[in-house]
Amino acid sequence: MNASHPSQDPSQTPLLSPSFPSRLPDVGTTIFTVMSALAAEKNAVNLGQGFPDFDCDSRIVDAVAQAMRDGHNQYPPMAGMPVLREAIAEKIANIYGHRYNANTEITVTAGATQALLTAILCAVHPGDEVIVVEPTYDSYLPSIELAGGKPVFVTLEAPDYAIPFSRLAAAITPKTRLILINTPHNPTGTVWRAEDMRKLEEIVRGTNVLILSDEVYEHMVYDGQPHESVARYPELAARSFIVSSFGKTFHVTGWKVGYVAAPAPLTAEFRKVHQFNVFTVNTPMQVGLAQYLRDPKPYLELPAFYQKKRDFFRAGLANSRFKLLPCQGTYFQCVDYSAISDLPEAEFSKWLTAEIGVAAIPVSAFYHESHESGVVRFCFGKQESTLATALERLARL
Ligand code: PMP
Ligand code: GLN
Repeated sequence: MNASHPSQDPSQTPLLSPSFPSRLPDVGTTIFTVMSALAAEKNAVNLGQGFPDFDCDSRIVDAVAQAMRDGHNQYPPMAGMPVLREAIAEKIANIYGHRYNANTEITVTAGATQALLTAILCAVHPGDEVIVVEPTYDSYLPSIELAGGKPVFVTLEAPDYAIPFSRLAAAITPKTRLILINTPHNPTGTVWRAEDMRKLEEIVRGTNVLILSDEVYEHMVYDGQPHESVARYPELAARSFIVSSFGKTFHVTGWKVGYVAAPAPLTAEFRKVHQFNVFTVNTPMQVGLAQYLRDPKPYLELPAFYQKKRDFFRAGLANSRFKLLPCQGTYFQCVDYSAISDLPEAEFSKWLTAEIGVAAIPVSAFYHESHESGVVRFCFGKQESTLATALERLARL
């Protein structure tokens, strides 16, 4: 028999899948997955990937279980359960003073990642420019690439990651479709202040530029400062998609439920993509979240809860040779390790995980080109005992 004619006897030849050009040729496994796997393999304390190592409030689990028992187990409406959209609109109105219409301006999403991708796919056409502030969260660039957009990078300024507004303004061209901002900021832990929002307002005034505002850490801002949502600024809100996620706020990163708030015309375009992207998001969690949101205490108390962890972690690191960078928000603490090692960040993170037993994320992973500044990111969203073990190991360096 002739092996070059597999159709004659398919059982004798390996079946080859057709090859096709990659839509994302430069994309590999995310740094979060890589470092979590290494942490597990080396039995290291995992301060790499951002997720809590403690459980959520049992009341939210009860609310979801009850929703299932109450029969909320079929498709919800495409935009999300009305009861949850109402609760989200109410929360935004109470905190930021801007009332979104729950029917036409709020959409429930499968976490912030899907919200970001969908917003980018609905707004960005091939060849459009999207301004991205670097260091930048890892899902933004592949999402822009899938839309055929062209990222235009504006880099935060050392040493405190200041926002370079004059360069941001200069980056706007007639081709600019979208500016992507993220406050509180992953990975640097910096937050935008009122004067920053006003500068952004000035920069975009009179342009056709949209804003995609990633506010997943909205309830993790410290030292008594407010979160400056674009929702507080009517001129910005009129051109913005706001993205948030319950994963961060309620310690349920594995639930993957988030939302987008945007003016009705923007939401209409968002939903055109959303309905063929996921169509909708699981029903019982939406019902449970709506029930849980009736009590504002859990999210209003979150800054104090995490600030305690931040202060504990920073106080511990103050006794080490790591240099602390600012942490005004998020559950991330960046540190400069140049007094300890001159390894590149990715190498240092691997060494720290394997040899010292504490996993970190290299901040270089948040830049599109090689960018070494001797800085790694730790996640302090952990039990105090976990942080204490990590601190004891880090203090030996
Ligand atoms: N944006 C930022 C800045 C994040 O840090 C994360 C996750 N940590 C996301 C979006 C994605 O959120 P989700 O897990 O809800 O998809
Ligand atoms: N956003 C989380 C972080 O920054 C990780 C989420 C993920 O693993 N994709 O650590």
